[in-house]
Amino acid sequence: MSEPIITEGLIHKCIDFHGHWCPGLATGIRAAEYALLEFGHSSDEEIVTVAETDFCGVDAIQFLTGCTLGKGNLVIREFGKVAFSFYRRSDGKAQRIVLRPAEETDREEYRELQKKSNEGSLSEDEWTRFLELRDEHSGMILGTDLEDLFEVKEVQFPVPEYAPMKKSVLCEDCGEMVMETKARFSGGRVLCITCFDKLNPRF
Ligand SMILES: [Zn+2]
Ligand SMILES: [Zn+2]
Repeated sequence: MSEPIITEGLIHKCIDFHGHWCPGLATGIRAAEYALLEFGHSSDEEIVTVAETDFCGVDAIQFLTGCTLGKGNLVIREFGKVAFSFYRRSDGKAQRIVLRPAEETDREEYRELQKKSNEGSLSEDEWTRFLELRDEHSGMILGTDLEDLFEVKEVQFPVPEYAPMKKSVLCEDCGEMVMETKARFSGGRVLCITCFDKLNPRF
């Protein structure tokens, strides 16, 4: 049998990178697996991923596919959906995958405990149960066939353009450099967003 594209070892490194094991990361690992199988690894910027929410899974995309925020070939559009569009610049291949709806009933307990965990109010027993459910859900996601996990669809928008480095200008209030496309013009002065907001309070 051939080696799986995402090995056990890679999954462990991915968990180290992310900081914990969770269903969100597991989902990202599977989305990355899809991207690697269908589009290949992006050593430079040839593959672009657009993620429609910023959740744990985005770390798996960054770690495994080579699409990263820093390089600009991972773009987050905050639509609140676990959906990813992949684009390959060389041949224009593009696909969007969307997480299929899960049974809400068996997630309820987990979600309740997750909330408590965020608040730091889990008892010892609840913590044990939380880890148990977390492993169970994550393991289920790893064990599900890709086609049962994601629906493959057409992309909804064209590949984002390359983002060339923009010229910077000096903010006339704080004196810091700011990309000219992000600068504001107010009262005859060029300002960065922070200074602009300070001088033009919205409320
Ligand atoms: Zn996580
Ligand atoms: Zn400023």
